[in-house]
Amino acid sequence: MLDEQTRLETKNGTSKTQWVYLFSEGNKDMRELLGGKGAGLAEMTRAELPIPPGFTVSTSACKAYFDSGRHLPDGAWEQVLHALKHLEKISARRFGDIGSPLLLSVRSGAVFSMPGMMDTVLNVGMTAQLVEAQSRSETQKRFYLDCYRRLIQMFGHTVKGIKEEAFDTILDNCKHRHQCQSDTELTAAMLSEIVDGYKAAYRNTLGEDFPDEPMIQLREAIEAVFASWYGKRAVDYRNFNKISHDLGTAVNVMSMVFGNRGDRSATGVAFTRDPATGDKVLYGEYLMNAQGEDLVAGIRTPRPLSDLQKDLPEAFDRFRRISRMLEHHYRDMQDLEFTIEEGKLYILQTRTGKRTARAAVKIAVDMVHENLITKEDAIQRIPPEQIDQLMLPVFDPDSLNQAIENRQRLGSGLNASPGAASGLAVLDADTAKLWADEGKSVILVRPETTPDDVHGMLVSKGILTQRGGATSHAAVVARGLGKPCVTGCEMLRVDTRKKEIWADGKIVHEGEPISIDGTTGDVFMGLVKTISPDLSKERRLIELLSWADDICAGSLRTVDEGIMRRGLQVWANADYPRDARIARRFGARGIGLCRTEHMFFETDRLPWVHQMILNATEAQKIYNAAEQIENEIQRRPKDGDLQKKRQAVEKEIETSKAVSKYQAALSALQEIQQKDFEELFAAMDGLPVIIRLIDPPLHEFLPRYEDLLEQVTVLKTKVDFLASLEDSLPRARRDEIMLSQATLNEKSLLLETVKTMKESNPMLGMRGIRLGISFPDIVKMQVRAIFEAACRQAARGTRVRPEIMIPLTGHVNELKHTRAILESVALDVLNAHHARIAYKFGTMIEVPRSALTATDIAQQAEFFSFGTNDLTQMTFGYSRDDAEGKFLSRYKELNILPENPFQVIDRGGVGRLIHMAVAEGRRSRPNLEIGLCGEHGGDPESIAFCHQAGLDYVSCSPYRVLVARLAAAQSALGLVVRDK
Ligand code: PEP
Ligand code: MG
Repeated sequence: MLDEQTRLETKNGTSKTQWVYLFSEGNKDMRELLGGKGAGLAEMTRAELPIPPGFTVSTSACKAYFDSGRHLPDGAWEQVLHALKHLEKISARRFGDIGSPLLLSVRSGAVFSMPGMMDTVLNVGMTAQLVEAQSRSETQKRFYLDCYRRLIQMFGHTVKGIKEEAFDTILDNCKHRHQCQSDTELTAAMLSEIVDGYKAAYRNTLGEDFPDEPMIQLREAIEAVFASWYGKRAVDYRNFNKISHDLGTAVNVMSMVFGNRGDRSATGVAFTRDPATGDKVLYGEYLMNAQGEDLVAGIRTPRPLSDLQKDLPEAFDRFRRISRMLEHHYRDMQDLEFTIEEGKLYILQTRTGKRTARAAVKIAVDMVHENLITKEDAIQRIPPEQIDQLMLPVFDPDSLNQAIENRQRLGSGLNASPGAASGLAVLDADTAKLWADEGKSVILVRPETTPDDVHGMLVSKGILTQRGGATSHAAVVARGLGKPCVTGCEMLRVDTRKKEIWADGKIVHEGEPISIDGTTGDVFMGLVKTISPDLSKERRLIELLSWADDICAGSLRTVDEGIMRRGLQVWANADYPRDARIARRFGARGIGLCRTEHMFFETDRLPWVHQMILNATEAQKIYNAAEQIENEIQRRPKDGDLQKKRQAVEKEIETSKAVSKYQAALSALQEIQQKDFEELFAAMDGLPVIIRLIDPPLHEFLPRYEDLLEQVTVLKTKVDFLASLEDSLPRARRDEIMLSQATLNEKSLLLETVKTMKESNPMLGMRGIRLGISFPDIVKMQVRAIFEAACRQAARGTRVRPEIMIPLTGHVNELKHTRAILESVALDVLNAHHARIAYKFGTMIEVPRSALTATDIAQQAEFFSFGTNDLTQMTFGYSRDDAEGKFLSRYKELNILPENPFQVIDRGGVGRLIHMAVAEGRRSRPNLEIGLCGEHGGDPESIAFCHQAGLDYVSCSPYRVLVARLAAAQSALGLVVRDK
């Protein structure tokens, strides 16, 4: 549907679609139609800033172009010509005229900035005739030839798909022949040679001549920019950044101004604050006597903007004033492009600048202190995922010192994007992709990057370039991706042909390790270890997140049944005291999930766990027999036979090896778990700690059946063979047989146990509450450990809030049965200690049936915690351990599923179950505490869902707590920001 803005009145009173907008017709609110760049240019034109005149072909035209099979929509070209007339009028030049020529730039400009991902054609309108007509002086001639050769190259590459190397080789050869170091040393005669070479390359590749026809150039350039929306690098970038493919790009056509018109001309880019650190300084780079593309491509290393004050002071002062004004107007850090033509300043672009996470936080917090924006604005500005970047690793000081002592330092370049990384050096993007797909960590090392390297950059741990500045392609893209990057490391020589990097007399071959630090710019050969940074030093982040917490705590939601709830809290999933301490440091308000079975996996505990499992079945059989007799005695108390049976079974319990081993293992584990829980309570001092009872099937703690079978078979063959020779063997070998036989017996028993426990669908089998019902002593032991720990800590003055969580409930009767047994254990312990501790019994909602019967379940549960890993698995019927590696990525490619449901909550299915369970659970028990502790608890979009669904908290890994706090506040403000 086209909106009002896109209709134009015609003379005869009918209306037609408006595809083209003069800069003077737009404004900053027309981003969707004009793209970010077009809207910025329009806004600046209105503010009467020095913008070259131009017009924008809208994103609607781009969409129509693709809808009609790659044709400009009806009327669009006529509107371009009409707008061109206007341009000619205000610039007093004519497009295609050789006496007073108007040249144009044709640039992409999408709604969300995608730096360097789409195409640009400059100097459109240049022709051989124009060069001829304008060759009045050597300087003039040189200038027009320079523009012409640039057009042939850009048009040839961008519009016609000729490889850039075809042109680069001609340029390099010419420079080499004439011993020129830089493009600016090329004379008119040399440029003429290059133009001839380019034209020949064009003809040889395409079988046609370069079109010396301005109108053809313009039309094809516009269409090529549209087409670049679906270019590989743009598609990759959008996929990576989750930008919709439906938005399309606008095309900005602008009158050319020339930074390559001699020594009083320049071109540059600038940020109104430092995009790496967020410092309030005008930050940027420029090149004298050059066109903008030279800067972005990193062909020459540019100079810092502060030098411009010396070179062209007036233009610099004006630029500084305008940049301040623009930042104030947009209330955000701006990314500017400018050109100075013979001393006169032109602004070519303003847009919100990409920045590192550290800079984003600093700028947002500083702007609140400068009264430019509100705290709410600050919170909404930062995509939660960006917070992860602040946790980017830094070099481990010891490892770094070692590397310095070992003289591993290769050099240093510009600290273009922060964080340290190490990996195998790879010298081209395709190999980087290949190796990364094989699971290798790689650092992409290039002389400079171009948009064609993006697929390699996406998968690399870090990026290193020999040439290019802090605003080169590599730097801009790396910052956008949040990857460490060092650019302009000129001590290096990157030989992509020989696949070698040379520096300071050292040589690194492709495939050898290399380490870079994008925060300092240092580069080392070999691996330098990395560690996590100290977040307590991030003052501004702490301040920002305290605002986020205030927003959550201060916001009230009306959830089902008119119940009021504060904003979401963020809790953490922590199994060990050390995780709990980290979670607390990151601001978690409780532990939402302690997976107790993880404690069983520690090597010092595993032998006890094995002993418990190996004897559990046998011991339980005896206990069950005893229980059965007790039940019968209740019914027939006078039956003498039953009394005898009771005595017999009591004797069996006393003498059974299985029972005594089972009990010994349980009490050893109780002691161990108790210590862990004591520390956990101490770390969380007064905050709720939800401890989940054992969940996975027992066989997961034992060796794999197949491995055991192999070991037993090999051992048995050996023992049989030795036994057949026994008489002829010396004594020492006979001892060996006995030893092997003992091991064989042990392993065979283990094999037998694993075999009996083997299930076809263990995920749907004997786990969670089912396991607890079958082997109640195990969960009783855990509850005893929890309450013993709680009592001891309480006696020491620690405030404790234990909450016992029962996993995998599907039917209320399971919960009723289990809770009765466990609560009596809890009361026993509390009574023994004469302690009064508030506690809760609750359950995970992981089985669809428990969500569907939440009314009943809430009668027995004082809290719900949605285990969305299992709930997703069981709602979709996808195995969570297999689906991602098998078919889910294909589903995503085909858009069968919009997102991986194990990462982002499936609102239509799993989400509906959650909504239902929340409403029904609270109807049964209005003060029911409800949280979510699946992996989704750390995902911003899922957090927004939890906010809407009325949950009390989300629980995520300690390292996601910061991200989640920000996302929770954004949810309270009604917006979760995505990184674009
Ligand atoms: C869940 O299922 O979401 C959950 C947290 O439990 P686990 O991942 O341990 O099965
Ligand atoms: Mg689970």
